[in-house]
Amino acid sequence: MIIFDILSVFPEMFQSPLGSSLIKKSIDKGLIEVNLHDIRDYTRDRHRTTDDTPYGGGGGMVMKIEPVAGALKAIVPAGDEALVILLSPQGETFKQKTAEELSHYSRIVMICGHYEGVDERIRKHLVDREISIGDYVLSGGELPAMIVVDAVSRLVPGFVGNSESVLYDSFSTGLLEGPHYTRPREYGSWEVPEVLLSGHQKKIDEWRRRESLRRTLQRRPDMLRQADLTEEDKRVLEELKAGDPELV
Ligand code: SAM
Repeated sequence: MIIFDILSVFPEMFQSPLGSSLIKKSIDKGLIEVNLHDIRDYTRDRHRTTDDTPYGGGGGMVMKIEPVAGALKAIVPAGDEALVILLSPQGETFKQKTAEELSHYSRIVMICGHYEGVDERIRKHLVDREISIGDYVLSGGELPAMIVVDAVSRLVPGFVGNSESVLYDSFSTGLLEGPHYTRPREYGSWEVPEVLLSGHQKKIDEWRRRESLRRTLQRRPDMLRQADLTEEDKRVLEELKAGDPELV
């Protein structure tokens, strides 16, 4: 089980994503636990202030350290183990590999920033890791935190019905996953590739690997440099490069 503790000034933003689909099921099954903490509950002033003007002037407001530090102290008392993450556009980019690493933790605390960002002392002294979900700036860390919860939870055994399917997901193998088809067999003149209907598992597996290589070559050739490729994969790639007009 993984316990996620999320610190936010807008905890209500999580209600719908946590209350639907596989995330809800995995909470109900006890595979993950998600605790939402309102940072305002750890303020000490009448107005429950979580932000203030920046020292040195300039626009925007900065998230204050005291409520965040107070929340962390209450949620993870001294001696308890937890990985503390700050969601930040300046952090390491979140990848499938990051999700795999995080899935080995039993407790993950995430701090959702807002406004112009957070007081630098939060980043420097209170967090273990900073994670960005991509090179763009969002208004708050809530959507990024939800993305981390989703991607990490999918890797908890029992989250998806067929845990084997997660092994072949894009990025898990170092390649993009190939195409999928389901009924009907024909939709107008659009047909399902014959091999998938053949019942010949070895041929189906070979086709899937080839299509996965083709798709990676077409869309993310950069991934092939890091991928764990067999001699047969390399031969297929050479064949694809030599003969496939789609790749030109
Ligand atoms: N002024 C900051 C900067 O330029 O780096 C951006 C602050 S942003 C408006 C407010 C908060 O949203 C951040 O503190 C962070 O928690 C969250 N956030 C925004 N974009 C993000 C991203 N790409 N990944 C993770 N968190 C992000």
